[in-house]
Amino acid sequence: MISTYARNFVVRFFLSVGLPVLFAALAVGALTVNLITRVSTGANIEDHDRTSQVVASALSSAQAQLANTATDNAHWDDAVRHLYQDPDEAWVNECYGVPTTDGVNYDVFMVADRSMAAAVTGFRKGELFKPSLDEYFAGKLNNLLDALPDDNKTSDAKGTIINTTDGLAVVAVSPILPTSEDLQIPVSKPRYLILAKLLTADRLEAIGTQYVVNDLVLTPWDAKSAPAGDVVKDFNGDPVATVQWTDRLPGDQAHAAVIPTTILTLSFLAFVLLGISGLCGRLIRDVLKREAQARHDALHDPLTGLPNRAAVSARLLDFSKGGTKNVALAFADLDGFKEVNDTYDHATGDELICRVAEGLGRLVDGNALVARLGGDEFVAVIHGPEAAERARLFADNLIAFLSVPFDLDGKMGSVGASIGIASTNNAPAEALDLMRRADIAMYKAKDSGKNRYCEFVPAFDAERQEDLAIATELRQILDEGRIEVAFQPVVASAAPNKIVGVEALARWPSSSSRRVFPDRFVHVAETQGIIDDLGDAILAKACAHAAGWPGLTLAVNVSSVQLRNPSFVSRTLQTIAENGMDPGRVEIELTEGVLVDDVEKTKGIFDRLRTAGIKIALDDFGSGFASIGYLRQLDFDRIKLDRSLVERVLVSPGHLSILQGTNLMAAGLSAKVTAEGVENKDLLQLLQLSGCSEMQGYYFSKPVPAAEIARLVSEWPPVESGAAA
Ligand code: C2E
Ligand code: CA
Ligand code: CA
Repeated sequence: MISTYARNFVVRFFLSVGLPVLFAALAVGALTVNLITRVSTGANIEDHDRTSQVVASALSSAQAQLANTATDNAHWDDAVRHLYQDPDEAWVNECYGVPTTDGVNYDVFMVADRSMAAAVTGFRKGELFKPSLDEYFAGKLNNLLDALPDDNKTSDAKGTIINTTDGLAVVAVSPILPTSEDLQIPVSKPRYLILAKLLTADRLEAIGTQYVVNDLVLTPWDAKSAPAGDVVKDFNGDPVATVQWTDRLPGDQAHAAVIPTTILTLSFLAFVLLGISGLCGRLIRDVLKREAQARHDALHDPLTGLPNRAAVSARLLDFSKGGTKNVALAFADLDGFKEVNDTYDHATGDELICRVAEGLGRLVDGNALVARLGGDEFVAVIHGPEAAERARLFADNLIAFLSVPFDLDGKMGSVGASIGIASTNNAPAEALDLMRRADIAMYKAKDSGKNRYCEFVPAFDAERQEDLAIATELRQILDEGRIEVAFQPVVASAAPNKIVGVEALARWPSSSSRRVFPDRFVHVAETQGIIDDLGDAILAKACAHAAGWPGLTLAVNVSSVQLRNPSFVSRTLQTIAENGMDPGRVEIELTEGVLVDDVEKTKGIFDRLRTAGIKIALDDFGSGFASIGYLRQLDFDRIKLDRSLVERVLVSPGHLSILQGTNLMAAGLSAKVTAEGVENKDLLQLLQLSGCSEMQGYYFSKPVPAAEIARLVSEWPPVESGAAA
């Protein structure tokens, strides 16, 4: 499929480069042909015009030549003596008749007087010839005579072309004049010598050869038909003939000569153009390929080759616009991936991600989109009938798939997945919100114990709104120092009526209009970046009170998030000191969630705290299932058994053995054990028997305000047994 961008590029390229180049090439070709044609036509016309002038001058030269001959023959004393009287035919023949035989100079010779009625004497082709002049010259000779001066003394001959009864001929007329001054002529009765030279085909050919004009043809003038060729006019300016010849057409010859070169040049041009278009084609293909690659890269994760977040967003946008109703999104975040990454190396981590990606592809049907959003986050976008049901099935299958550890080149990698599922409720517009909802649901899955899936319900949104309101109010409470602390007494198993210590527990101020439980606002503080301030405030208040209860240990809860802050240890020590508390009486309680993140770093923190005398307890032991592992990796001064474990020992022999085992192990690790949530005497007795050193629970006391502790201490004086060791 070609993208809109690519199509636009091709169109733009064609319009801005292809089309102009094509036009330029066509224009160059057309211009060249046009130029050649115009140059050759011009040359033809020019040559025709020149030939026309040559023909005209050839004809006038023939006239001038005959006129000269006529003058030469007429201006002669002997001619005057013989031709102004009845001619002596023998003399005339000898002088003028004989030359008509070969026609070299003229074909016809005549003598006439001014009347021009008939020739006085004459010869034609060696024969005596005395025709009616009007008839022979078609009445055109008078014009010539009229042009001669009347005095008849000096005039030279005049020539013209006349259509005679023998055909077109050059005709010249000269008055017969003496050359000697003493010879007189009868001025009133002048006689004229007339010569005619016929323009036969042979003669025209000779003229043509002499003047380089091909196929010269002279045709008598016919007023009725349109003149073909140049018009030849007589002395008087009347048309007498048309003259034609075959043009040499030098332009055509030149044209013919350059045509092969032109064709060759244009072919070369076409070839070059073809080459350029080939190159352009390759360029465009290249650009399109790069564009397709860039588009692929923009929508895919380089490590796994799976579609990426942008691809998911695009798909969801398509669904929302296209009105696709049934869409479900399963958003999976791997549990324990960080541990694999930290335990081995990043290459192994990448390998694990690739293996998970590979498996994901097999867990969905064909038209689902499986994508990697980054890090250890994956998503499956499922649409069509029963999308939500299929998303749940996908989540189940994913958890089952991950339950088998991966063999990563001999290294075993084990991860789980917390999955959030969100689906549209037949409302396409919701597709755009699916990521956010699935993300919230995923956090719910993590909060509720990981390696499970959770489906988004609208209540989550309300909850989130409320979280934000709680965060806002909590910030204000902390700013104003209104956070409260309750203390729950811890008693020694051996002497349950003696207090050995207290656990400080954060309390939402009673002055607030709302009631918020610690589990909730501690979680909000952790997720909204307020936990450091909350922890510091509780520690400060707790220390301030506990400083006045000598002999009691003070247990303070610390969140995993606080531990990540590099200034945690120094701030804690400073707060304790500022409130006049002995660090040797302080114990911090950590849940196991903290400790997995980075065991080495955690060990370092423990060391620094212990150096100051602070003790460390593992809180909520027995609520998860990996607890014993932590005990081996990290040193604890105390283990606090979770209420969920404690409350079941009365009813479940299995839980009782876990409890006894834990106590034995704790003894081996020289850690003390505190049982939480002791609510009745039966439990108290059972726990005493199983070897817990301390106890805590409603049976002894609920968490109470500081003043209450002061009273309890006086009633239940502290014993040395529990904390002071
Ligand atoms: P936790 O650290 O396990 O604290 C013990 C919880 O058990 C307290 O709940 C306490 O009131 C309750 N409890 C004690 N004895 C009994 C009993 O016999 N029966 C029953 N049903 N409950 C009993 P609370 O005060 O609501 O605190 C809940 C959790 O909030 C704490 O669990 C702790 O994880 C967290 N938390 C409280 N204060 C702080 C604090 O200052 N900092 C941090 N980071 N977490 C705190
Ligand atoms: Ca605790
Ligand atoms: Ca606890």
